Amino acid sequence: MRFIRYQKEEESPRYGWIHDNKIGDIEGDLFGEFRRLDATTPLEEVKLLAPSQPSKIICVGRNYAAHAKEHNAEVPDLPLIFLKPPSSLNNPNDSIILPHQSKQVEHEAELVAVIGKRGRNIISEDAKEHILGYTIGNDVTARDLQRADRLWTRGKGFDSFAPFGPWIDTEFDPSDAVITCRVNGQMRQMASTRDMVFSVGSIIAFISSVMTLEPGDLIFTGTPAGVGVLLKGDVVEVDIEGLGVLSNSVE
Ligand code: ZN
Repeated sequence: MRFIRYQKEEESPRYGWIHDNKIGDIEGDLFGEFRRLDATTPLEEVKLLAPSQPSKIICVGRNYAAHAKEHNAEVPDLPLIFLKPPSSLNNPNDSIILPHQSKQVEHEAELVAVIGKRGRNIISEDAKEHILGYTIGNDVTARDLQRADRLWTRGKGFDSFAPFGPWIDTEFDPSDAVITCRVNGQMRQMASTRDMVFSVGSIIAFISSVMTLEPGDLIFTGTPAGVGVLLKGDVVEVDIEGLGVLSNSVE
């Protein structure tokens, strides 16, 4: 099943589900009790929005050894986590806005887990029960500011720096999927999710030992090697095999 959030013309945003390229509404709470209404609206008639409204966005740094190496960093012994603010959320197909403070804004293609059920101290084996599904994310980063500051909040936290979508897929298997990033059609990043240092289950166990995970929260699971600069006018696509493509332009 694929769930979306969408907006039709001037109507208010809604959650929906996709069947045969058509959308049906979700009546009730996607993260609780709900009913799927008939899918009748063609997908191309609506604007797709970021498919969840998280209370927090938790990211894992250096979760692919080859990416840690390209920055001359060690793979951490425990998951290295940081937050992006909810104000950095961005919709599929909307623009990533280059801030004037940075001269080096980069893409980071990532698999994203969406929390479905609240939890604290979740053990790795139970992580699956707390995940609604998976989506695609771009952990856009002002690399020069990330390097200049000891903390990553500024470099990772600008408005528009967390595009994700276009949908949440509840059947996706994260164990071995090819993740690719293209800029203007040219390949920049390609790896398999099996190269992650820490699995999704162990990441969720680690994060939930620190903070309660709430329905809708996002976990960005780290980026493979090959990160590179985004320039005005670029189109950046993150493609995850079996999941779809997240596309954003750069302004
Ligand atoms: Zn990242």
